[in-house]
Amino acid sequence: MYDFNYHRPKDIKQAVKILRDSEDGVPMSGGMTLVPTMKQRLAAPSDVVDIAAAAGSGIKASTSKVTIKAGTTHATVASHPGIQKHCPSLAALAGMIGDPHVRNKGTIGGSIANNDPAADYPSACLALAAKIVTNKRTIDADKFFKGLFETALRDNEIITEVEFACPKRGAYAKFPNPASRYAMVGVYVADHGRKGIRVAVTGATDSAHRNKAMEKALTEDFAPGALDSVKVKSDDMNDDIHASADYRAHLVTVMAKRAVAASG
Ligand SMILES: Cc1cc2nc3c(=O)[nH]c(=O)nc-3n(C[C@H](O)[C@H](O)[C@H](O)COP(=O)(O)OP(=O)(O)OC[C@H]3O[C@@H](n4cnc5c(N)ncnc54)[C@H](O)[C@@H]3O)c2cc1C
Repeated sequence: MYDFNYHRPKDIKQAVKILRDSEDGVPMSGGMTLVPTMKQRLAAPSDVVDIAAAAGSGIKASTSKVTIKAGTTHATVASHPGIQKHCPSLAALAGMIGDPHVRNKGTIGGSIANNDPAADYPSACLALAAKIVTNKRTIDADKFFKGLFETALRDNEIITEVEFACPKRGAYAKFPNPASRYAMVGVYVADHGRKGIRVAVTGATDSAHRNKAMEKALTEDFAPGALDSVKVKSDDMNDDIHASADYRAHLVTVMAKRAVAASG
């Protein structure tokens, strides 16, 4: 690890000022991704601005929406009674992330900002029509995830909270990497009634995305069998030591069917 300056600002305003004044500063939340990256010398920020306390932890849950402060850990989301009641599929997704250590340190803000191609939360954001709130603006999830580890966030822009629409029914099904628990493929299916059905896929390509053909098929018939007619192409799927592109394409259909069956 290279030398760096460490800061712990009291609020987001102060965090942004430190970031602006620094040569090449970065915000840090749980540090679950940033710290290993720095230890491997893949990142060498001049300043690390620890926003865990400034971003805060907190959840508001009602029948129609769930709002989560950026500094909230995965473990807190997984065990929150309001989310378990009004949006059980989201609590279940958080409970599937990594291991207890990762779930107790990693935060929703850090996960979404990082946009790892195999992360779970990006699929929840797309399936639950999330609004990502920053210190500068509110961004629709559909416009937020831009590509491999790329988002719509600009320099010195910090996620402060995320708002999810609770579906009438829905589920997330994931085929985890047996070592890291990251998604080899994960599919989130959400039925928002008159507002439509959303199907979001993670782990399969550079970045989480919606599968519009599956959404159309499930709008006609919300049943696992409806997905038999949808061909998932492997052309742009990830192909690595963990799984071939063809295998991932196959998993997308299998996980989508499991999610529909679990939606109840
Ligand atoms: C062993 C292991 C297993 C894992 N398994 C899974 C898994 O199964 N599924 C899964 O989804 N994830 C998994 N993760 C990732 C984990 O969920 C982390 O929570 C996530 O990668 C980053 O969250 P963090 O709070 O630790 O962010 P950090 O590591 O602190 O930051 C990550 C990046 O986001 C930026 N950032 C942080 N917070 C903000 C913010 N509020 N606004 C703007 N930018 C910000 C940082 O500058 C940095 O670039 C795993 C990680 C590990 C180490």
